[in-house]
Amino acid sequence: MALERPLVFLGPPAAGKGTQAKRIAGLYDVPHLSTGDMLRDAVARGTELGRLARPIMERGALVPDDIVMGMVEERLRLPDCSGGFVFDGFPRTVPQAAGLDAILCRLRKPKPLVLELRVDRELLLRRVVGRRTCVVGGEIYNIYDAPPKVADVCDRDGGKLMQRPDDFPEVVEERLRAYERQTLPLEGYYRSRGLLQVVDGAASMEEVTRALVSIIEREQEHDGHL
Ligand code: AMP
Repeated sequence: MALERPLVFLGPPAAGKGTQAKRIAGLYDVPHLSTGDMLRDAVARGTELGRLARPIMERGALVPDDIVMGMVEERLRLPDCSGGFVFDGFPRTVPQAAGLDAILCRLRKPKPLVLELRVDRELLLRRVVGRRTCVVGGEIYNIYDAPPKVADVCDRDGGKLMQRPDDFPEVVEERLRAYERQTLPLEGYYRSRGLLQVVDGAASMEEVTRALVSIIEREQEHDGHL
């Protein structure tokens, strides 16, 4: 299967963006570009960007647009992105979406296909509280809905599973507020451009992946007829 358009995943924290973006990127064999992972990596390595981003991420707010845009543009210029890519957690604001349009235009790439995962607040909170991430490979689990075979150990590489510091309840509230204030306006931005598709993110992991693939394939077939 070939991915003809860049994919953007929209949805609140713990809607399943990371899990689904990784699965879809794997199916189409293209890079999974998570700005959250890139920023966490910069924090872990103690780079200048990481030192700047760390306090902002710790309080659950968004890192400034110009920093994120520079990081994304640099990443998109690497050769592995030539056959398509899947964003996760980007864009997060209207200026980022407008910046992405400009970058895609400069790189002569097609318009993105935007997949919104809708999940109600109660389920989101359960997912956030139960989320555990492998410190080695970044594999995502949920102690309630998708537990590892052995508690706190990654099935894939044996790495220790940790709770993200920004998944603690006070920070999650702030992240949800940031989503509602700064990211939700993207729904209108992309809908008015005819680029938005909505998926029920409360279904099982496999069902959501199936629904996403069927939208991607349908849209690509439709594009092919234009
Ligand atoms: P995530 O892993 O996508 O939930 O992102 C974790 C944190 O990284 C967010 O709460 C923000 O502080 C920061 N972050 C990730 N992506 C972006 C983005 N596109 N714009 C601004 N901040 C971001």
